[in-house]
Formats: sequence, structure tokens, C-alpha cells
Amino acid sequence: MTPDRDELIRLLALEDFTPVYARADAVRRESVGDTVHIRAILEFSNYCRRQCRYCGLNRNNRTAHRFRMTPEEMLATARAAHQAGYRTLVMQSGEDPWYTKELLGEVVKEITSWDMVVTLSVGERPHGDFAYWKQCGATRYLLKHETADPVLYDALHPCGTLEARVGCLRALKALGYETGSGFMIGLPGQTLSTIADDLLLLKDIGCDMAGIGPFIPHPATPLAHQSAGDPALATRAVALARLLLPAAHLPATTSLGVLDDAEKQHVFSCGANVIMKKVTPDAYKTLYEIYPAQLGHTDIPAERRALEQQIRALGRNPL
Ligand code: SAH
Repeated sequence: MTPDRDELIRLLALEDFTPVYARADAVRRESVGDTVHIRAILEFSNYCRRQCRYCGLNRNNRTAHRFRMTPEEMLATARAAHQAGYRTLVMQSGEDPWYTKELLGEVVKEITSWDMVVTLSVGERPHGDFAYWKQCGATRYLLKHETADPVLYDALHPCGTLEARVGCLRALKALGYETGSGFMIGLPGQTLSTIADDLLLLKDIGCDMAGIGPFIPHPATPLAHQSAGDPALATRAVALARLLLPAAHLPATTSLGVLDDAEKQHVFSCGANVIMKKVTPDAYKTLYEIYPAQLGHTDIPAERRALEQQIRALGRNPL
């Protein structure tokens, strides 16, 4: 039986969550097995037309140095990721209309011609763009709903609505994309009932993937002085997402690892089965600062090998 809203709220507040983690781990094993999928993520532009109050890329952040990778640079990085063994590339950016549907479409066509799956994560676009990129070969799209509370959504997003965002997700799903949503834990004003609604929204959309990670304050945003989200609460939400969506792809999010590396290992025994690794070239990687993080030098093959070892050490099979 899947938990309803009241049950989700009760579970999120449990003193001892261990039995729920164990159940989520069992459901994960039965539904998606022991594989941990490793995805390469290329962050190709930090220009953004939006003003999301939590995000370091928001257009009001005048301290950010902006960059755009050329299609040639994107293809060179994608090629290096392919050579290192990656078979999925997540292409992420701010909402940057400089990349027309045709231009991104050409990049997608090329990369998918080498037996590589492309996941797009470029924000809200006209639904016709989604349809066009599907024809170019893109099969997955990530667009987190961020928060299911419409009042909180409005307070955090001066230039968008929850309705429009969920409208994009439903359009992606209807087009046949493997559709990924997700949300942040610890946004100021969020309660456990908000998180229950976030989880139920994932289910209602019929998400194939869901990224759930803690909020991390960025110093050049209006939320600079808020506290970060609780990593353990993020792990609880991942476990409950596994119970609601047994077959979904659920990543151990990067933001979880930034706040608490041990929790990022732990979440693999609580329902997670995906991990993303940045392949963004060094020159751009530090500029793609959604939230502050310590980043090392990008060495695509070496980092992939290290990650495979870490996954094997958890008793799981990297792919
Ligand atoms: N422009 C794209 C990509 C956004 S960045 C889009 O709109 O989908 C990817 C994700 O980072 C966001 O969806 C959000 O959930 C997360 N994020 C942004 N700022 C954050 C912060 N300060 N702390 C934690 N996660 C954040």
C-alpha cells in the first residue's frame, strides 16, 4: 500500500526512520535492482533570464561571470565523456534563449548518433521546442518543480508560476520523454506537509526520475542568510519517493554530497540508484555556481573510474 498525504507527513516526522529506509531499500532492489547509473552532466551556459531567489545563476546576480560554451566545445566534452564510458549525457544550463531550438537540436542529433542518451535540462521552453528536440533524438528531460506549494513557489520565483512549470512537465510526459522532476528540502517557509505535497506531485505527474536535494544558500542571492536544508530530511524524502514510485530513477543529488558526503553514501541504501558526475571543463565549472561548492579539477576518465570503485565498494554495480 502506498502512503497517503497524512501518512507521508507522519512518516517524515518519525523519531526512528530506520524501518522506512529498509523498506525503501527492499523496494529499490526488487524494482530496479543493484545497478547504479552514472550520468555525465555538462553545464554549458550560466546565462539565465530568470530570477529564482535561491539560485546563484539568477539574472539579478551581477557578481556572476557569465559563459556560454560553443557547440564545438560541447561536442568535444561529450566525446570525452563517451570515450570514458558514459552512455548518458545530461546537458544543463540556465534558461538561455541564445541556444535556439535548432542549435541545441543539432548538438543533440550529433551526440545521440554515437549511442549516447541525451537528457536535456534547460528550463521552461515553448512546448514546440520539447517536441522538436524529441525528434532530434533527446529522450529524457529534467525540470524540477522546486516546490509544490503555489504560494511558496510565487514567493521564490518572480518570473514564473507553478502551473506553467507543471504544464511543461505534463507536456514532456505526453511527448513520451522520460520525465524528471524534483524539489528542494529546506526552502524557507517549507513544512513537512509541503514535502508530502511535493512527493504526491511527483506521483501525479508520473515522473520517471526525481532529484531531491537540500537547499544550500548562495551568498549573492536574496536567500543568502537562510540556513541550509537538512541532509537527513532529504534522504527521508528520497526513501518515500522510492515507496511512491518504485521504478523511478532517483539520484543521490550533488547538493546532498556538498553538505554531507556520508549522507550521500547512505542515500544509496535508502532508495537512490543514480549519480551524476560533472564533466564540465575546469574553465566553466566554477562559474556554474547554483550554490557554493568545493570543486576539484575535471579529469573525466579518472573521475569515472573512481566513482565506479566507490559504487562497487557499496556492493552495487556501476553502469
Ligand atoms: N535552468 C534549469 C536548470 C536549473 S539548475 C531549470 O530551470 O531546470 C538545477 C537545479 O538546481 C534546480 O532545478 C534547483 O532544484 C537546484 N538549485 C538551484 N539553486 C539551488 C540552491 N541554492 N540549493 C540547492 N539546489 C539548488
